[in-house]
Amino acid sequence: MSDTPNDSATRLAPDVAAAAACCDDHDPTSLSCEEALNRILEAVTPIVGSERVHLRGALGRVLAAPVVARADVPAHPNSAMDGYAINADDLPTSGSAELPVVGASFAGKPYRERLARGTAVRIMTGAVVPDGADTILIQERVAEHDGRIRFDGEHQRGQHVRHIGEDVKRGTEVLGAGRRLTAADLGVIASLGQGEATVLRRPRVAFFSTGDELRTLGETLGLGEIYDSNRYTLHGMLSACGAEIADLGIVGDDPAELERAFRTAARDADAIVTSGGVSVGEADYTREVLARLGKVHFWKVAMKPGRPLAFGKLGNALFFGLPGNPVSTMVTFFLFVRPALDRLAGTVPRQPWTASARLTRGVKKRAGRVEFQRGRLHREADGTLSVAPTGAQGSGILSSVSQANCLIVLPSHVLQIDAGSLVEVQSFEGLI
Ligand code: AMP
Ligand code: MG
Repeated sequence: MSDTPNDSATRLAPDVAAAAACCDDHDPTSLSCEEALNRILEAVTPIVGSERVHLRGALGRVLAAPVVARADVPAHPNSAMDGYAINADDLPTSGSAELPVVGASFAGKPYRERLARGTAVRIMTGAVVPDGADTILIQERVAEHDGRIRFDGEHQRGQHVRHIGEDVKRGTEVLGAGRRLTAADLGVIASLGQGEATVLRRPRVAFFSTGDELRTLGETLGLGEIYDSNRYTLHGMLSACGAEIADLGIVGDDPAELERAFRTAARDADAIVTSGGVSVGEADYTREVLARLGKVHFWKVAMKPGRPLAFGKLGNALFFGLPGNPVSTMVTFFLFVRPALDRLAGTVPRQPWTASARLTRGVKKRAGRVEFQRGRLHREADGTLSVAPTGAQGSGILSSVSQANCLIVLPSHVLQIDAGSLVEVQSFEGLI
């Protein structure tokens, strides 16, 4: 490596001089999860570049500009039921009435004439209500015989008519900028006749795993080696976040190799996510290399799993150095990276769905840190929610995340929670 640390720092990150002032790893004060998240979110500048995309490719994308309705939806009054279109003035308020059926209006094939007084038109769901008609009689309440209908029930003027603009009024802002588009949103935009949306470009995220023990799938494991599973959990979670991903593979526990990987990653990524190498072991070089290349904070977050967390900037890219233990990687991604990527993507960070649930068995924990256990939320026969921890809770037991559908949040101050107590759970639904 020909660059001196100072050279590389000057070229990659002009603010490197400030790196010396970064938080000290030996600082005994740990941050709370909320503080860590707030500091991360404060450092994120949302993306501004935008592009036009077809609706089919717009699911999960974030609107760069509001969607404004250029037309009313529906554009014509139409029937909500199969039956007969009539003028309510032609029916008595009580007693029965008989009207001749003079035509039919089908969805897409309207009855184009004005409804003459004292007549009815057969009408199907979604068909235009003819001029002169204001009310629909549903077919189940009407007897038709020899081209005449007989009705002897009650009715209300305007019943079963869908009005112009009752779904969306022309000129209204239907979806605001910053909205992450759902399938329902795509349908709403399509109902306006608009085939494209202006969305923000996706966040570009480069990621890699660090560790000499890591092997790529397909390789044979030597003694003490393991498969790089974080590469797959991170790829999955980044995909679910809507990121454009650059997978930089596995990087060994070697400062020069790490430096090369960081330089490559910082070239055009909006964010860099790594796993491993952020604790204080002798082969944990991430911190040292980052301190030379960028502006980085190392935090101990008062939580388990996932205590050490590196966050900062490398050039213009956000940097997240996640702990390597597979459960810690996932939990810290869930709590810190996902909300940051939401903000980067130009939208409000998604909150996990939370609930109170009864713990099925007692748990013990240390005071002074929030502990997150992996749990399975279940609705009991009486309608209440219960949650069971999914087996062993070590930070390396990834299968316990796979079996879980939520995190059980055990507050910082408590030491023990008895079976049957209510605990907060955060659902994984749609998030990881
Ligand atoms: P580290 O954070 O590098 O100290 O790693 C902590 C633990 O996580 C060690 O047991 C590592 O072997 C394991 N680990 C680190 N990176 C990965 C990875 N990409 N996939 C699976 N396990 C990992
Ligand atoms: Mg390591």
